[in-house]
Amino acid sequence: MNIILLGPPGAGKGTQARILEEGYGLVQLSTGDMLRSAVASGSDIGRQAKEVMEAGQLVSDEIVIGVIDERLDAPDTKKGVIFDGFPRTVAQAEALDKLLPQKRLSLNAVVEMAVDDDLLVDRVSGRYTCAMCGEGYHDRHKLTKEEGVCDNCGSRSFTRRPDDNAETVKSRLAAYHEQTAPLIAYYARSGKLKTVDGMADIDEVTRQIEHAIRR
Ligand code: AMP
Repeated sequence: MNIILLGPPGAGKGTQARILEEGYGLVQLSTGDMLRSAVASGSDIGRQAKEVMEAGQLVSDEIVIGVIDERLDAPDTKKGVIFDGFPRTVAQAEALDKLLPQKRLSLNAVVEMAVDDDLLVDRVSGRYTCAMCGEGYHDRHKLTKEEGVCDNCGSRSFTRRPDDNAETVKSRLAAYHEQTAPLIAYYARSGKLKTVDGMADIDEVTRQIEHAIRR
């Protein structure tokens, strides 16, 4: 099963992708994570992407499509993938429509996670993750049980994304509305679009996604 999670920054795509990975044995393909690794490694792609990401804008279609094209050749993707943060433009969606059959893969569903804009800035600007296990937390909505200690693995080391500040989130939201939201109509036309309420609590969103992808 191959699915796309579509939604604005802070909609909970990463959280749900991690849950679906565990529940269904799928592999999360987050272009944001891949680009952040490229930035951290100082590769050519990382150098080209760094400033664009810090400004909350979109990295070029050419770079992102190249990254996904290469990643889809790894054998683990045969288990099924969850595209998280890709595609983000109509050009990327069209490229994916060509890439999947070339790799003998197909798309089962596109799940749109709908969340009101005014909630997103608050959600994104308070979030941080455990540097060891990647568990996600939030300054106001999901605290660690013991202050400064990860509930999951006991680590005391946490990271915050440099683009998770209120100013950059506004640019990322603008990019979403201008460049990514048109994908809702694109996938509705193909009959693959399912919409879930991204404002419900985490378990309820998972339930709605499971219902949508089983149909
Ligand atoms: P994310 O982790 O999905 O929020 O992505 C973080 C940043 O990486 C975005 O704000 C973009 O600058 C860049 N990015 C991630 N995925 C894409 C994509 N599919 N197309 C263009 N830029 C992307």
